[in-house]
Formats: sequence, structure tokens, C-alpha cells
Amino acid sequence: MKKLLGFMVICGLALHSCQAQANKEASTATQKTTVVKDTVTNQNPYYSRTDTSKLVLSDTTWKRILPAQVYQISRKKGTERAFTGKYWDFEGLGTYYCAACGNALFTSDAKFASSCGWPSFYEALRHKSVLYIDDHSHGMHRIEVTCGRCDGHLGHIFDDGPPPTGKRFCMNSLVLDFEPKK
Ligand code: FE
Repeated sequence: MKKLLGFMVICGLALHSCQAQANKEASTATQKTTVVKDTVTNQNPYYSRTDTSKLVLSDTTWKRILPAQVYQISRKKGTERAFTGKYWDFEGLGTYYCAACGNALFTSDAKFASSCGWPSFYEALRHKSVLYIDDHSHGMHRIEVTCGRCDGHLGHIFDDGPPPTGKRFCMNSLVLDFEPKK
């Protein structure tokens, strides 16, 4: 009987030891996962190239999650200086996404060489990719183009574009993310 009890105690200790090791590993795994999540959170947890649902965030949150230059254009309707953006004369084949939220906006198929100094497209990727808003700022009437998902400012649209639409989406490079065609 004593031998049996001794054997059970040893088995119990062994099990406890295994469980403790498993718990330790699980804890380590959880910590690793948390670190990864925190890293993403510190950047932009709302950025998605697949979620097309409306994104409404406070100005404070936008300011926290966006790079300063992107925030200035997207949320404060700023404009980058002509001929300074990385896409105004860029000819890569692929898709352009909103740099603030990841919404798909344009394809390189609709991009054309414009002498205006900003990346120009003759049509948006989808009907709801962008929104159009009357803009009477700076003593003139223009049509502002905003992101269809996050309402962030992208640029303006003009009627001096090439066929087939005759439109020129005059965008800011800083609020565009380009992904090359695979
Ligand atoms: Fe957006």
C-alpha cells in the first residue's frame, strides 16, 4: 500500500512539473502574441485592404495613428508641393490604396502622364472607392475627392483628363500606398 501511495505521489509531482512547463510555454507564447499585437496597435490597427466598411475615427485617433505628413493631407486637407511626391511620374503597374485606411482607390491602368506634378488618374477603381464634395475654398469652386471608406482628403477632380472619361483625378502621393501587380 505504501509503495502504491509513493508511486502516486511521484506521478502527481511529475504531472505537476509537466503542467508547470506547459503553462510557462503558454505564458511565453501569449507574451509574444501580445508584443506583436502592440506593435500593430502602435501603427494603424484600422488599416485594411479588404474591409470596405465605413471607418469613422476621432481626430485625436487619426493624429495618433497616422504619420504627420499623411495626417496633414488626409485629415487637414493639405496639399503636397507639385513635383515632390513619389508617384507623380511613377509608372509601376499595380494598385493604389488609401494610405490612411487601406481602401483600394485606383489602378495603374487608369494612371496617365500629367504635367501637373501630382499623380493623375482618369477613373477610380470602384464606383464607391471615392466620394465627391463641393469645395469653395481659396475663392474658387472645385470638386474635392475623398476616400470612400475613411473620408480622408485625397485631392481634386478636373474635367481636363484624357479619354475615355475626360476626368483628371489629381491626387496627393502622400495619401497613396502603391502595391505592385503580382
Ligand atoms: Fe481612406
